[in-house]
Amino acid sequence: MRLSRYFLPVLKEDPKEAQIVSHRLMLRAGMIRQQAAGIYSWLPLGYKVLRRIEQIVHEEQQRAGHIPLLMPTLQPADLWRESGRYDDYGEEMLRIRDRHKRDLLYGPTNEEMITDIFRSSNISSYKDLPLTLYHIQWKFRDEIRPRFGVMRGREFLMKDGYNFDLTKEDALHAYNRHLVTYLRTYERMGLQAIPMRADGGPIGGDYTHEFLVLAETGESEVFYDSEITDLTFGDRQIDYDSKEECQAVLEEFTSRYARTDETHDDALFQQVPESRRRVARGIEVGQIFYFGTKYSEPMGATVAMPDGSRVPVHMGSHGIGVSRLLGAIIEASHDDKGIIWPEGVTPFHAGIVNLKQGDSSTDSACEAIYAELRARGLDPLYDDRDERAGAKFARMDLIGLPWRITVGPRGLANNMVELTNRRTGENEEMSPKDAVARLV
Ligand code: ATP
Ligand code: MG
Ligand code: MG
Ligand code: MG
Repeated sequence: MRLSRYFLPVLKEDPKEAQIVSHRLMLRAGMIRQQAAGIYSWLPLGYKVLRRIEQIVHEEQQRAGHIPLLMPTLQPADLWRESGRYDDYGEEMLRIRDRHKRDLLYGPTNEEMITDIFRSSNISSYKDLPLTLYHIQWKFRDEIRPRFGVMRGREFLMKDGYNFDLTKEDALHAYNRHLVTYLRTYERMGLQAIPMRADGGPIGGDYTHEFLVLAETGESEVFYDSEITDLTFGDRQIDYDSKEECQAVLEEFTSRYARTDETHDDALFQQVPESRRRVARGIEVGQIFYFGTKYSEPMGATVAMPDGSRVPVHMGSHGIGVSRLLGAIIEASHDDKGIIWPEGVTPFHAGIVNLKQGDSSTDSACEAIYAELRARGLDPLYDDRDERAGAKFARMDLIGLPWRITVGPRGLANNMVELTNRRTGENEEMSPKDAVARLV
């Protein structure tokens, strides 16, 4: 993309409404625009990052054999009357009435709808299990206090997945499998998200973990054994069908004390050696649940057993806050100049800065680098505007691309450009060819 033709409405001043750094930087970098409280348009730069995050989520879900589908945002109220949650859910649910006076709602989550899909499908035998379906879809929750930008929106993008299993043991395997997929997913986004024992809330169930990114601006208070922050999943290969392998990962990542304030137990916490006890704040970026037959029983989602009897399936649900992740990543990765995107989610792989636009040698060198990077499948952003160097650098720093190639007439006289790492600030002089080679 050429910056002169892009739509990147950056703000010069800090927006007054933003209380935390990720919200401020997303507004300043022209990524989002608020249309109503907690409701945002995703401008091109923000939309690009959102799509990259979605892509990672899709890849990691499908790696584990989970199947994508897409359910609508609007749901009939009757489904929720069957489970009993229509009345229980309260004011967070946005209720709508259509012209025929039928009650609808904008889905805050999809347990009822997926259970309905399952029970009305041809899946009728225990032999058709296990099954996990998921989608990435907009949700609406009429939060009392939408704030911090996309971190607590009213309309927000969530990945939610649902497993259908014959037994509790199988469903707990699905639970563990999701834990593994989530660890991989967050690490690919450059995040450490710690699984912590949590509370079931309106989804229900006793087995539940939340994934928290440590950050001062997080809304949850968390208590943990500092040893847990030494764990990484890395690139280990795992057989998702193996109950033992998935269970071992769960044990490794959940055996140390790590809880949110809702389930915190001070007596247990005191057993952690004092030097390792940490009390901090965290951002909830996902949660997994096992809730057994809570929905399948009242809604009649059953399968036939060999003896012909029918039993309700064991289920769980698993959510990732896709749009909230943009905020969480920025909270975890920025400096006083702007955002620092981890390579896994960056909107453009590199920026090209032409220090003397209109100079035939710098122009043609920039064009060549731009074409070469694109030919190799990368997506560079070329600042081809006639602007001062300082302004160009400030904009690149604000939008946080991991690499910058700077092309000026003096360096070019010796066939040199500068390659700058956004995170470390390190500069290196090299030929245009070597700079391209370093990025691919
Ligand atoms: P919170 O405790 O922050 O209100 P939740 O526990 O109500 O979140 P879940 O039902 O567990 O949310 O939904 C799954 C994920 O969706 C959450 O872990 C979070 O990352 C994301 N999420 C929930 N509510 C919002 C929101 N209002 N805006 C953005 N993301 C959200
Ligand atoms: Mg909530
Ligand atoms: Mg929560
Ligand atoms: Mg939750």
